[in-house]
Amino acid sequence: MCQGKPLSVIELFYGLFHMDIPKTPRNSLRKPQDIEMYALYYAPRFIKEYWQAKRLRQLIKHATRNIPLYRDLLASKKIDVRRVRKPTDLRLLPIITKETFSGSSVDMFVDNSRTMNQVWSSTSGTSGKPFSFIPGLSGDLTYSDFISFRFLLSYGWYPWEISEIKIARIKMHRDNRENRFFVSVQEFFSDPDASIVRIAEFKPLVLEGFPSVLLELVRRVEANPSLPKIAPRFAVVMGEVLTVAARERISKALGCEVYNRYSTEEMGTLGMECGQHDGFHLINDVVLVEVTDDTGAPAAPGEQGKILLTDLSNFNMPLIRYDVGDSGFIIKDACACGQLAPRIKIAGRHSASLSFGARRIFHLECAAIFEAFSGIVLQYQVVKRSDSELLLRLVTSRELTEAETLDITKAFHAIAGEIRVVPERVKLIESSPTGKSQTIVDMSAV
Ligand SMILES: [Zn+2]
Repeated sequence: MCQGKPLSVIELFYGLFHMDIPKTPRNSLRKPQDIEMYALYYAPRFIKEYWQAKRLRQLIKHATRNIPLYRDLLASKKIDVRRVRKPTDLRLLPIITKETFSGSSVDMFVDNSRTMNQVWSSTSGTSGKPFSFIPGLSGDLTYSDFISFRFLLSYGWYPWEISEIKIARIKMHRDNRENRFFVSVQEFFSDPDASIVRIAEFKPLVLEGFPSVLLELVRRVEANPSLPKIAPRFAVVMGEVLTVAARERISKALGCEVYNRYSTEEMGTLGMECGQHDGFHLINDVVLVEVTDDTGAPAAPGEQGKILLTDLSNFNMPLIRYDVGDSGFIIKDACACGQLAPRIKIAGRHSASLSFGARRIFHLECAAIFEAFSGIVLQYQVVKRSDSELLLRLVTSRELTEAETLDITKAFHAIAGEIRVVPERVKLIESSPTGKSQTIVDMSAV
C-alpha cells in the first residue's frame, strides 16, 4: 500500500468554503482547489448540495456577463437567470449541443473577461464528429484520476494515494507522468505484441483501455504464449459498450476484476461502477447530470432520456445543459454497496469494428486517422460495402486536396490492407436513434 499524507480537518474546511471562481486558465488543481476536491469528497450530502447550488449560481452569473453566446441565447428566450438557484432549476435553461457552438466564432463562447492561455482539447471524434473545447477540471490529470480510480478507495486506498498507484493506459491522448504508463491506440494497433511486452514490464496494478482494445490485447496474449503475462489486479474500461461476454473474457484472461466507467471526453469521468457492477454511481460532484425527455423536462427514475451535463468547474468555456449525445436512465434505488450516489445506466455508446479478411479495423483507429484532419473533416462515417471496398462518407469544411485524399486512403490501406477505399464528400451524416451518428457501418452484412 502506498503512503500518503492525510489532510487536516482545518485544511478540509478551508477548502470547502474557499469557493473563488477558478482564475487560472486551466482550473489548476494546485492548492487550494485540490483541498476543495478532497473536502467535497468527504463532505456530507447537504454540504455538497450547498456547494453545487452556489457554484451553479456563480457559473450562470459569469456566463451571462462574460460569454456572449449565453447572454444572447438566454435573452432571446427571455429567461430570468435569477430564478436558477439550485440544480433542479436547470430545467428553466435551454439545452445546448455541439451545434450551438459550431456556427459561432470562438470569442462568442469563451470567457472574454480575462486573458487566457487557452489550452484546447478536442474530442477524438469517436462519435463521428470532432469537437474542440476548453476543458474544466476534467482537463487536470490529478483530478481526473481522482474521479476515475475512486473505486480503489473501497479496497483500502486513500484518495491522496491514487497518484502513486501504477496505472497502464492504452488511450487516444498521451499523458506521461510518474506511475502512469501510456501506449497510444495507434501504437497499440500497429504493434500489439511490443506494446504488451512494455506493459508487462511496467507491472501495472490497473490496466485501462477501451473494451475493443483490451479484447484485442487478450486475443493476442492468448494467441502467443511466448508473450509475458500482464497481471493487473484491476482492468478499467470506458468509452464503449462493455458486454457481459467481453467483461468475462477480459477478467478471465487477465485474472483481474473489470470495472467499467462512464466518461465523456468533454467532462471526463462522471460515473463509476462499484463492486456490484450494476450501473455507474454518479460520483463527480463538479458535473451535474440530468436525464430528460426531448423537451428538457426531467425523466422519471428508470425512464430513458437524453443525458445533459453541466460542468461547474468550467468558467473558461461554460457548458451548461450540454447534450453530450448519450442516452440513459437513472436508478434511485439503494445499491447493495452502500454508496448513496444515484446510479446511471447508459444506452447507446460506440463499439464497432469491420473485418477485411484476417484484418480487423476498429472505430478508434478510424478516429485516430481523422484526428489528423480534424480541422477539415468535421464528421465521418466508415462504411464497409464489401470484403474489398470501404466507403468513407465525409462532411468536410472544404474540398479535400488530392494530397489529403491520398493521405487518408493510404492511412486506411495501412490498417485494412489493399482494399478499394472510396472517399465521398457528403452534406450530412444522419444520427442513429440514440442521437449519435453511426461512425462504423457494415453494409456487407446486410
Ligand atoms: Zn454500488
